[in-house]
Amino acid sequence: MTSHEIRRHFLDFFQSKQHLIVASAPLVAKNDPTLMFNNSGMAQFKDFFLGNGTPPSKRVADTQKCLRVSGKHNDLEDVGFDTYHHTMFEMLGNWSFGDYFKKEAITWAWELLTEVYKLPKDRLYVSVFQGDAKDNVPFDQEAFDLWKPIVGEDRIIYGNKKDNFWEMGDTGPCGPCSEIHVDLRTPEEIAEKSGKELVNADHPQVVEIWNLVFMQFNRKADGSLEPLPARHVDTGMGFERLCMAIQNKRSNYDTDVFTGTINVIEEISGIAYTAGTGMTDVAMRVIADHIRAVSFAIADGLVPSNAKAGYVIRRILRRAIRYGYSYLNLTEPFMTKLVPTLATQFADVFPELTAQRDFVATVIREEEISFLRTLGTGLGRLDQIIGQLTTEGKTEIPGETVFELNDTFGFPADLTALIAREKRLTIDEAGFSKALQEQKARSRKDASSLAGDWIDVNETDRVEFVGYDQPEAYAQIVKYRKIQNKQGTQVQVVLDKTPFYAESGGQIGDTGTLELFAGSDQIGTLTVLDTKKENDLTIHIVQDVMGIDELLTEADSVYAVINTTRRGLTSSNHSATHLLHAALRDVLGTHVGQKGSYVGPDALRFDFSHFSKVTDEQLAEVERIVNEKIREDIKLDEKRNVPIGQAKELGATALFGEKYGDFVRVITFDPNYSVELCGGTHVPATGHIGLFKFTGEGSVSTGIRRVEAKTSKGAEALVNEQMAVVSELKELLKAPKDVVKAVQSLLDERTALQKQVEALQNEKVQQLKNQLLGKIEAVNHNGGPGHSRLVERVEVPNADALKQLAYDLKAKVDNLALVLGADINGKPQLAVMLPDSLIQDKKLNAGQVVKELAKNIKGGGGGQPFFATAGGTDLSGLDAALAQGKELLG
Ligand code: ATP
Ligand code: MG
Repeated sequence: MTSHEIRRHFLDFFQSKQHLIVASAPLVAKNDPTLMFNNSGMAQFKDFFLGNGTPPSKRVADTQKCLRVSGKHNDLEDVGFDTYHHTMFEMLGNWSFGDYFKKEAITWAWELLTEVYKLPKDRLYVSVFQGDAKDNVPFDQEAFDLWKPIVGEDRIIYGNKKDNFWEMGDTGPCGPCSEIHVDLRTPEEIAEKSGKELVNADHPQVVEIWNLVFMQFNRKADGSLEPLPARHVDTGMGFERLCMAIQNKRSNYDTDVFTGTINVIEEISGIAYTAGTGMTDVAMRVIADHIRAVSFAIADGLVPSNAKAGYVIRRILRRAIRYGYSYLNLTEPFMTKLVPTLATQFADVFPELTAQRDFVATVIREEEISFLRTLGTGLGRLDQIIGQLTTEGKTEIPGETVFELNDTFGFPADLTALIAREKRLTIDEAGFSKALQEQKARSRKDASSLAGDWIDVNETDRVEFVGYDQPEAYAQIVKYRKIQNKQGTQVQVVLDKTPFYAESGGQIGDTGTLELFAGSDQIGTLTVLDTKKENDLTIHIVQDVMGIDELLTEADSVYAVINTTRRGLTSSNHSATHLLHAALRDVLGTHVGQKGSYVGPDALRFDFSHFSKVTDEQLAEVERIVNEKIREDIKLDEKRNVPIGQAKELGATALFGEKYGDFVRVITFDPNYSVELCGGTHVPATGHIGLFKFTGEGSVSTGIRRVEAKTSKGAEALVNEQMAVVSELKELLKAPKDVVKAVQSLLDERTALQKQVEALQNEKVQQLKNQLLGKIEAVNHNGGPGHSRLVERVEVPNADALKQLAYDLKAKVDNLALVLGADINGKPQLAVMLPDSLIQDKKLNAGQVVKELAKNIKGGGGGQPFFATAGGTDLSGLDAALAQGKELLG
């Protein structure tokens, strides 16, 4: 069975059990402050478990792209060394949201594995939760009773809290789970040792393939558990491991999920893959794994960068490049060459990669080029360090140094160790881990915020956003909680109805006020500092005030009002962003895709894929088109709850990496011009934007450009500022007809004057030279030809002129020894020139002489044996310096 068929059968099987098949959410987690990447199938459904939303169906199944490289689930360091943990993998899952429970979950899992996939029953083991006295949760008798008739008691393992109790986080839904493990060893191996003993013992052929989680509790902030009102099923099966089991291989990398990529790596490196544990095999597995994580992350909208999720992607990519560099001798970009194979392989599963194949390959190639350069620099720096240590007679590279190489050069510790070993040095591993731990602790501290339990005030099943249509609303408080973060204490408030737009899609959150009423009495007013989304919940972040608990619990209604001026300006910028996006595609081409944006009241910023600088002409053309569209005063056409298929038919610009659900909002300004999927707020007609002006263009990272612009009042202010500058200029220039021409002629005049000044100065130096020629004295050596001597204080405009003067005199006079001193803008300056006779016979050196003389002027200098200069700080010593010079050259 091919991997394609295996995936297909899973989805078909659950569809036949009335499950709705949905698309994978992007790898990058959206609107969830606790999660950087989606690391399990359930992540995109979290809200349904938390009761913050209604699922599209009570039964859902899918294949979800997962990434386990940070936070609670981090398998990165195992990848490549073992054969069944990946960074990115597909998790096949089926869910019940308050519908079926343990019975169906267990029987269907068994039916699929043994009847559809035909896995031999005697190779499967299952586990059930043994209970935990401390948490006061009992043994999972229900699961045990269901499994026993199917697998037999001797194939059931009792699991502890670590393996068999699943928790979403420190708080929230949780429950016992049942895992299914498979034993893929040879009959001989099995005869020697039972598979039961190897379950959960890190054996590469006895692995967990499926985890069935039964959510029935809610963990509260104080650590206690309470039963959930509705019980859910959440299952996750590792697709690549399933393929290994069905295709009867000993490693995930031997299945057709990976062999295509490994073949290409063999071709590029000229080295054969032998499925062993040697470093060339490890390197090939690392590369075959990491290219998936990196390619899909980029296709989902991430780019390698120095912060947050982008940094994680950069590190994964660099890890692969380094393994190729160190173990496969790949010193030229190679990861980029693997993208096409992957794109083809997944064309009908995850089309986002195929659609952006060239973009992804280019981003990876540029990143490779720059990291290979870094590796070069790091190697140079390491050579230096090793040289230094060796001369000091040391044999260990300090942990701090290893950390620094790692942190600032991106030069990995194990590479440092490898190179050190070649030079017979070791690295201080303990010191390195300590430095690393300290850094981790620092970043954890930065990120942490403490949230209290939600305090429920009023029951509600739905939170309604009314902010597209009205700036204020009467509402009720649903719940609130206090959070502690860097800003101190803040209070998060959830309302059943709100006009406040929560930050998302690049648009900032609304600010405003909540007026609290008890009956008809207003009992208080709270300032909303910001509005954010947490999963699908709109959270009003409110300033903490004295007695806020009483206010929030006593208020029976709230009048919620947004700051409409701020919202209006923001809407102008948002609509302008759509016009801009369309104009960029017009002018630059349809490869332009949105990669990020900021839409605030002050300005807008738009990041998009494009590989070269946008020229001034192109910017001017884009600006012209946008302003034309503004003047056309195109009416906003807003369609809510459009099925995604229909939206695509309308020609909506699809944004990969966005999770839209099944129904989307479509914003159109002229169906032939701009159609976008968007949840943001907009002006009723483009004329409201008033004016659009660019303020900047630049590069964000490889293949991504950024433009910045202002609209409306902001653009007006910008134009006014510029005009003020021009009128000031005009005034200064005495109101010329043509300012540019006037400035140009000023500049021309200035150049001409400069030339005149130079000529005059030259003339003066010439005169000075002629005067000096008359002051040359002859010094006779005893019994040999003498030399000429000139020691004078002169007047020159700068140090260059002094040097020029010395050289000119040397050209005129044979055997000249000279010392010239000058006052250059209040600073003493000396020049010393010596003839060969003094250098050779008397062993004099101009550099040493000038240093000696410079002591008089509290300065220093140097140069060549025949000519040297010095500057100083004490002008009063200049004559003494000259006197000493006369003696030295005597
Ligand atoms: P393991 O103990 O093997 O790391 P896990 O307990 O972390 O697995 P779960 O969180 O229960 O796994 O995830 C559900 C399923 O996803 C697992 O049964 C397994 O098949 C698969 N899986 C988990 N982590 C990975 C990974 N890093 N790479 C590939 N598949 C994985
Ligand atoms: Mg794990």
